[in-house]
Amino acid sequence: MAYKLDRALSKGAQDFIDAEKLHSLLSTSKEDSVHIKEIFAKSAEKNPLTLEEVAALLSIKSEEGTAELFETAKTLKKKIYGNRIVLFAPLYIGNMCINDCAYCGFKKSAKSTIRKTLTAEEIRQEVKALQDEGQKRLILVFGESPLYSPDFIAASVREVYSVHSGNGAIRRVNINAAPMDVAGYKIIKAEGIGTYQIFQETYHRQTYSKYHPANTVKGDFMWRLDGLDRAFEAGIDDMGIGALIGLYDWRFEVLGLVSHAIHLKQKFGVGPHTISFPRIQPATDMNLELPYTCSDSDFRKLVAILRLAVPYTGMIMTARESPQIRNEVIHLGVSQIDAGTHLEIGGYNNKTHNQQLEREQFQVGDTRGLEEASKWLIDEGFIPSFCTSCYRAGRTGEHFMEFAEKGFIQKFCTPNALLTLAEYLQDYASEDTRQAGMKLITKELENIEEGAWKEKIKDNLRKINLGERDLRL
Ligand code: SAM
Ligand code: SF4
Repeated sequence: MAYKLDRALSKGAQDFIDAEKLHSLLSTSKEDSVHIKEIFAKSAEKNPLTLEEVAALLSIKSEEGTAELFETAKTLKKKIYGNRIVLFAPLYIGNMCINDCAYCGFKKSAKSTIRKTLTAEEIRQEVKALQDEGQKRLILVFGESPLYSPDFIAASVREVYSVHSGNGAIRRVNINAAPMDVAGYKIIKAEGIGTYQIFQETYHRQTYSKYHPANTVKGDFMWRLDGLDRAFEAGIDDMGIGALIGLYDWRFEVLGLVSHAIHLKQKFGVGPHTISFPRIQPATDMNLELPYTCSDSDFRKLVAILRLAVPYTGMIMTARESPQIRNEVIHLGVSQIDAGTHLEIGGYNNKTHNQQLEREQFQVGDTRGLEEASKWLIDEGFIPSFCTSCYRAGRTGEHFMEFAEKGFIQKFCTPNALLTLAEYLQDYASEDTRQAGMKLITKELENIEEGAWKEKIKDNLRKINLGERDLRL
């Protein structure tokens, strides 16, 4: 029987955003340096923060308070993740859309948008191009359309996993698509996806109504807010949340994101795997006055505060941001970035022209290729990681493992990141990047305790040198 979306399911869904409380917290919190130091001390021990504590951090205005906030976020990030940065690329499959989100280049009323949906063959060609650059992790992105049914999305995932170009393989496919019903999610889950990501866009209802017309599917705030609860009910326990920063007061959105994380953890025992905080970028046919901009200095605070609020959650900073901002903010708690990003549908095989907004959802800020981005990370002392070990070993909620087991990061995550970096360097990097990367690997090895485990890691590195691939601990 053909699949039909059952939207009645969001009736009775739980509205866990208490806007009155969030506004009141924001208006009553004052910068109290003693209390803020206590909160820093609590988060330094990797404890998630309460909404009240997050609101207290959001009140920080002083220079000293801000400097200490950044320092605490940096230290916590290092403590939790080491110096790995996970790399991925988005693959836009189609931009047909029945919705009319005012900020988006794919909205149905956008007249200049060139519409396209990749065929199965085109998906394979795109994946081949991505693999030939060294990508191992993708997020597939879709507009919302009856064309992009769960069966269609599932078939797209299958196509991606089927491609093997040279030593290449896509080892993890995440999804950013419209919220589904439980039956739909089950179809997609069966293909072995990683994270299912849904951005709430804004947690402020009135603002949500302003940018998402009521007569569209996306206009239903609760259908979206309940989207990941339904995903969990369908067996997807790896979820990504996000807010489109710039629609409403960024501080309210931070509290909204933290409320969402707390809700998922309380209801299902699993918090979100990732949080995204995309800032609005120019898009085709976007004629918007946005009264709530989030300045670069506010953005730094936003990232640092989220880092402290939800230590168990990966933080994604996308290529919407410029290289300058990414250079700075990456130190404040980010654990994943996309690199070598092309939003144009079919763009990985067609890199000859500059960005053309009518072919893309929005303007990309960081247009560096994967090679350049990897070199940048290495130069900054980060390990570019293509690791997918936890997911493939059936350890869902990879970040959960990192926290749940003492020493897990030192024992597994850092060495696995090094092994995937070594593969990348052998197969795809320029000589310059390869040299810099090998130096970094040698340096990182020095931090690993002598013994059988270290010998195993070194042995795996030797095997990679000799051509073996996909070695993991
Ligand atoms: N169509 C699906 C949906 O709306 O759930 C998939 C998401 S859409 C293709 C990916 C995300 O891009 C949106 O959730 C939104 O947060 C973000 N986005 C849309 N327009 C944007 C813009 N102008 N600048 C930055 N991000 C934007
Ligand atoms: Fe469509 Fe998603 Fe863009 Fe909204 S954000 S117009 S639903 S593609």
